[in-house]
Amino acid sequence: MFRLYDTRTRQVEEIRPASRGLLRLYACGPTVYRYAHLGNMRTYLLADLIRRVAQRHGVTVVSCQNITDVGHLAEDGQIDPGGEDKILAQARAEGRTALEIARGYEDAFAADCLALNIHPADYRPRASESIGLMIDMIAKLIETGHAYATDGGNVYFDARSFPGYGELSGNSLDQLRPGHRSGGATDPRKRFHADWALWKGAPEGRELTWTAPWGTGFPGWHTECSAMSLHFLGEVIDIHTGGIDLRFPHHEDERAQSDSVTGHEVVRHWVHGEHLLFEGRKMAKSTGNVVLVADLAASGLDPLAARLAFLEHHYRQQLNLTWETLTAADATLRRWRDQVAAWAATPSRPMCAEVTGQIADGLDDDLDTRAAVAALRRLEKDPEIPPGSKFETFVHADQVLGLDLAADIGRAAAPPALPGGAAQKLAERRHARNASDWTTADRLRDELAAIGVLVSDTPDGQAWTAGRRCHG
Ligand code: AMP
Ligand code: ZN
Repeated sequence: MFRLYDTRTRQVEEIRPASRGLLRLYACGPTVYRYAHLGNMRTYLLADLIRRVAQRHGVTVVSCQNITDVGHLAEDGQIDPGGEDKILAQARAEGRTALEIARGYEDAFAADCLALNIHPADYRPRASESIGLMIDMIAKLIETGHAYATDGGNVYFDARSFPGYGELSGNSLDQLRPGHRSGGATDPRKRFHADWALWKGAPEGRELTWTAPWGTGFPGWHTECSAMSLHFLGEVIDIHTGGIDLRFPHHEDERAQSDSVTGHEVVRHWVHGEHLLFEGRKMAKSTGNVVLVADLAASGLDPLAARLAFLEHHYRQQLNLTWETLTAADATLRRWRDQVAAWAATPSRPMCAEVTGQIADGLDDDLDTRAAVAALRRLEKDPEIPPGSKFETFVHADQVLGLDLAADIGRAAAPPALPGGAAQKLAERRHARNASDWTTADRLRDELAAIGVLVSDTPDGQAWTAGRRCHG
C-alpha cells in the first residue's frame, strides 16, 4: 500500500484501511460565502490525490466533504458566541439572501473542482441540512457528561473531559491561556476558558436558526464536521484531510467530540496540507492576494496549470506561487499535450517500466508528486525510449496526475502560449475592469498590445488574441 504523514503520530504511516479494500476518506470542505482561491484548491487537491493513489492499489474509496453553509463565524476559528456568521455577513454585503449566497458559491466551488480535475466527494452534505444529526450528537455528549447547556441556549464541550486534547496540535489545555480563541469575548457561563460552543443560542428572527432542546440557535463549525463524518462514513474513518491551519482548533475540537461520542479513536490518520503562498505571503482573502480559478482562465492560462504547479511541490511544503510559475506550468502542459498527441500517432509500445516504477514509488512515499513529474520530464527528453512507449507511460501516469495529457490527440495544434508577464497583466486588467478602474484597464491594454497580446472587451468579459509577433 502507500504511506502518508500522520499529524497526530508525527510520522509517516503505512495506510491500511480498517475495512479491507475500502478506504473511508473525509475532507473538510468549503465555507460557501465566497469563491475558493487557489490556496483552498491546493488543499482540496490533497484528498483527490489520496483517492487516486488508493484506487491505483485497487482500493475502493468512499469519500465525504462537507459544505459549510451555516455556523462558521467571521473570525477564523472563533467559536465563542458573538462573532458574525460569514454567510450572513456576505448576504448583507451583496444584498442577497443567505440561501442565494450559499448555493451560488457552492455551485462555483463544484465548477472550480471540475476545472482542476478534482473528483467530487461521494457525499457532499450541507450543514444546514444536517442539523438533526448535530442535535443528536450534542444530546449524546450532554448525556455522557462531555457537554453542558447554559442559560441563553448555548451548549459547551467540556474540554477537560477529553484527556487526549492537544495531541494533534501539540497544544495542551494548561498552555492554552484564556482568550486564545481569537480574543473574542468569553461567555462567563463557560466552566473553563478552553471549552467551546457546540450550539449557540440566538435570538428569534435571526436568519439560519433552528429549534433544539436547549433553545433556538445554530451549531458551531466544529460540530458540523463531527456529526456529518460519523453519519456518512461511520465510526471509523481512515483518513481525514484539511489545510494545516485546521489542525487547531478545528480538528482538535472535532477529534474530542467524535472520540467522546463514540468512546474510541474515530480518525485513524490526520493528513494536513501546507499553505499556498502567493508572492511570498499566505494566500488569503484578508491578505488581498487571492487568485481564483476564473482568474487563470481569464488570463489565458489552462486551470490545470495550477494543478501541475501544485504537483511540482510536495504537499507538506509551503509553495510560493507566482504568475511566472503558473505561466511556466501552462507552457509545460501545452508542450506535453502536443507531444502526447504526436506520440499517439506512432506504433504503440509497452510502457517504460522503470519510469512507471519511479512514479509509483514516489506517489506511494507520502505523495511525492515531485518525483512523478520529474520522472516524466526525464522520459520526455530520453532519446532511447520509443515515442509509442512515452505515449503509454504519460497516459498511464495521468490517471493519478489528472492533467488531461491526452486532450490534444486528434485536435488541431493548440493556441500558442502567452508571452511572459501577459497572464499577470490580463488578470490585473480583469480586476481593474471589475472595479471600474478604466484608467488602469486602458493602460494595461496598451502594455499588453506592446508585447503582442490584443485585448478586446466583450459582454462576457475581456477576450484576447496573441499574435505571431510575440512568439518570435
Ligand atoms: P476556508 O474556506 O477558509 O475554511 O478554507 C478551506 C480549506 O482551505 C481549509 O482546509 C483550509 O485549511 C484551506 N486553506 C485556506 N487557505 C489556504 C492556503 N493559503 N493554502 C492552502 N490551503 C488553504
Ligand atoms: Zn471540518
